[in-house]
Amino acid sequence: MNIPQDTILRIREKFPILDREVYGRRLVYLDNAATSQTPRQVVETVDNMYYHTKANVHRGVHTLSQEATDMQEHTRRRVKEYINARSIEEIVFTRGTTEAINLVASSYGQAFLHDGDEIILTVMEHHADIVPWQLLQNRVKIKINVVPITPDGQLDLDVYRSLFNNRTRLVAFTHVSNVLGTVNPAKEIIAIAHDHGAHALVDGAQGVPHLKVDVQDLDADFYVFSSHKMYGPTGVGVLYGRRELLEKMPPYQGGGEMISHVSFEGTTFAELPFKFEAGTPDFVDIAAFNSAIDFIEETGMDIIAGQEHILLDHTTRRLVDEIPGIRIFGTAPDKSAVISFLLENAHHYDTGMLLDKLGIAVRTGHHCAQPLMTALGIEGTVRASFAVYNTIEEADAFVDALKRVNQILS
Ligand code: PMP
Repeated sequence: MNIPQDTILRIREKFPILDREVYGRRLVYLDNAATSQTPRQVVETVDNMYYHTKANVHRGVHTLSQEATDMQEHTRRRVKEYINARSIEEIVFTRGTTEAINLVASSYGQAFLHDGDEIILTVMEHHADIVPWQLLQNRVKIKINVVPITPDGQLDLDVYRSLFNNRTRLVAFTHVSNVLGTVNPAKEIIAIAHDHGAHALVDGAQGVPHLKVDVQDLDADFYVFSSHKMYGPTGVGVLYGRRELLEKMPPYQGGGEMISHVSFEGTTFAELPFKFEAGTPDFVDIAAFNSAIDFIEETGMDIIAGQEHILLDHTTRRLVDEIPGIRIFGTAPDKSAVISFLLENAHHYDTGMLLDKLGIAVRTGHHCAQPLMTALGIEGTVRASFAVYNTIEEADAFVDALKRVNQILS
């Protein structure tokens, strides 16, 4: 795909933060897998809401409350369409991916899992898709089975198939690895789960920002993601859940908004999706999330994914050709724009710190994937991750800076 430079420069203009300097140099922001930057139109929606429309949602007859409610519910409809859910009842707003998985582990765990049942996770899961299931083990004695990876960082599907037995109830896996970049064959993984009578949860935190996701086509039972990784505001996430399942699941938290009637004799709960949305939601950011989806749709997922792949290919080629001894973790053929690596003689932390001094923002550490680090036999990596507003010049600045860092540290 050929994307004119002008197209990317016009996109960049929407992100004022990209003009800032770090240590006297123009920032090169390559930490997009942790959080992406936010275009002006999203910030303006937040501003406008605080200046003109801030009122609590769902509880007021007055105009501001109705407008705020309309904005929040408009985003819900938009998300439903964006991921092709069947109905708005299937879209639950959470604080993020982490809260969405905790909700499912707790509530689905209570409704569907019993002592002796088994679930399947993968070794490349983010802690957000490991720890909630371990916490559930304090309440229900489930066994957790783990799918390993092949040397290039793909899930070993033969082992995956072999992990099922008649107690397997759920498979929970990441759509795209935040460390390796591997795009997992979600549709196939879900179909295998369903063939064995198990449900499937997809951690889409790194999926939705880079791929067009259709939850009906995937046939996912749960699909979860965070707005802040898709050019949107912080504090908002989505749990998509198949309606039949959500209906059978008990509330995760209790409080206002999620009830139908409360008395000390007993309480009845609100309909979906409100049953899962106790308390005042982050309605300002939910409203602004709509503007982030505007941005993605105006830009086009083909341009977003296209530019990210141009950057991934260009940078990977240069790193391999020009930095002797560099180890890149994750070389699957279907890979998103994440490059995790180690220099031959340098600690990941030192590499990241020196890159920062040269104006390059990358992430270092275990990336909340310690079991994966253990499987790879390392403590951490340096991770550069791209978004649509990154340019080839920035990729080159990164590689040139890394060559300098390599000389200093070796
Ligand atoms: N899963 C994956 C694959 C992630 O990359 C992240 C964010 N690093 C999360 C879950 C957690 O997302 P959040 O912190 O927005 O809840």
